[in-house]
Amino acid sequence: MVENLARAALDSPEVHRLFANAALGIELLPAEPDPPLNMIAGEPELVRDPATNKCLARVKVRGQEVMRAAIDEADRAFKTWRDTLAEERRTVLRAWGAAIRRESFSLARIVSAEQGKPLSEAEAEIQYGVSFIDWFADEAIRICGQSPTPHKPMSVGWVSKQPVGITVAITPWNFPMAMIARKAAAALAAGCPVIVKPAPETPLSAYALYALAKAAGIPDGVFQVLHGDGEKFARIIAADSRVRAVSFTGSTAIGKILYAQSSATVKKLSMELGGHAPLIVFDDVDLDAAIDGCMSAKFATSGQDCLAANRIYIQRTVYDAFCDRFAKRVSALKVGHGLSPETNIGPMTKQAVADKCRSHIDDAVQRGARVLAGGSAEIRGKFVTPTVLCDVSDDMLIATQETFGPVAAILPFDEEEEVMRRANASDMGLAAYVFTADLNRAIRCSSALEYGMVAVNTPSFTGPPVPFGGWKESGLGREGSTYGIDEFLELKYVCVGALHSA
Ligand code: NAP
Repeated sequence: MVENLARAALDSPEVHRLFANAALGIELLPAEPDPPLNMIAGEPELVRDPATNKCLARVKVRGQEVMRAAIDEADRAFKTWRDTLAEERRTVLRAWGAAIRRESFSLARIVSAEQGKPLSEAEAEIQYGVSFIDWFADEAIRICGQSPTPHKPMSVGWVSKQPVGITVAITPWNFPMAMIARKAAAALAAGCPVIVKPAPETPLSAYALYALAKAAGIPDGVFQVLHGDGEKFARIIAADSRVRAVSFTGSTAIGKILYAQSSATVKKLSMELGGHAPLIVFDDVDLDAAIDGCMSAKFATSGQDCLAANRIYIQRTVYDAFCDRFAKRVSALKVGHGLSPETNIGPMTKQAVADKCRSHIDDAVQRGARVLAGGSAEIRGKFVTPTVLCDVSDDMLIATQETFGPVAAILPFDEEEEVMRRANASDMGLAAYVFTADLNRAIRCSSALEYGMVAVNTPSFTGPPVPFGGWKESGLGREGSTYGIDEFLELKYVCVGALHSA
């Protein structure tokens, strides 16, 4: 019964054990019956299955005073954690990664139950997230500085890297495990304590990671999770000068607010914000291979992905063939509960995402786009039937704003120079895709595209060794790679001179 899939997935001894500590404030709700409405004390405490709207758990919402206490605790913990040998930090991080791997069966079910994504994608998310923990465990011991050639007589100097201080990570609901792992692992490896504020829709994944961090030996106060109101927390965080770094993933609108607020105490900021990726298919490429790539680049995470191809530009010579074959592939995708084995596209995690899909489809159709698959009439609650719109023009909403759902917008183009100009005509600059068999063209396009990441002939390109991040309003700083840890480190230059009297 679809109605009870999510609750049943959480009703295992392993999941109960993860959340057994009463201090976490988590009460898993029984599989049957639904709690009577008069027992539902405050909507923010309830975690719901996005597919059925059934309550899965009650999670205590923490107030501003708890955030203040968490900062105090992180401050105490920082004094020890920053002086812990990098090798010991590596050992603890590796233990955390191993604990996550051991519990990956339960973690994937928690992610799928509260986020809604297909279970296979949730399993992949756990592996993706833990790969960053492994990576940064090893980066901890590679932090090193320089000793510049002296520019003063009788002196020696060095530049070292030191942890920036308490870090707050504010994370989204589309990757409720991996976004926390990617941020926290880098900050912890650098020697910073981390306080995570998860998205309100997906606190269970965050608390599961916390429980495993404790079990792995991450010391008290070094890694904390607080479920609560982001706006209220942000006021405390902004004003407290002991919080030295904020790492945020979410919308550009909220990123701008945090940017402004952080100026009060001049914090270090790293932000992964919205995307609006162009995906460009030239007529020299194997069309079926490009369609495979496009399916994955558009419909992974049910389209709720900042890397999702939002504008699919197809060269006019292969336009009709692409649209026809792509629409057939999209029509075959199965919409359903994330925990049903046949599901390709789960529910949208938030109703607002389904509503935005509807408005983008309706706007495009009113302005002359054609629906080749799906359509807004097939949207039911949070379930959006994968939709293909062709003949989309540059002025339509879907061509100017990120959709963040399973709606594919196809736009024809004629020339390389023209499509580069149109692809770059956006305030966003996270990721772009190019499909071409021409090496010279691949080099020209990857150089011309104003994006932090360009994928040529592949939809799959992220992972621990590469710098993930965007240009323009898509964000600041990088996550992953050898660059990612620098977001949590400060440079210090020391100059030692020889006293003449000696
Ligand atoms: P959102 O509103 O920006 O929320 C993201 C996080 O920020 C949540 O934890 C939210 O919790 C918190 N938040 C909201 N208002 C806040 C405030 N005033 N101060 C501090 N924290 C605040 O994002 P969304 O609409 O849920 O997610 C979709 C958007 O995120 C998309 O536009 C997408 O592009 C972007 N995104 C980007 C990436 C990336 O890697 N670049 C990844 C995922 C998502 P509360 O609601 O409790 O405040």
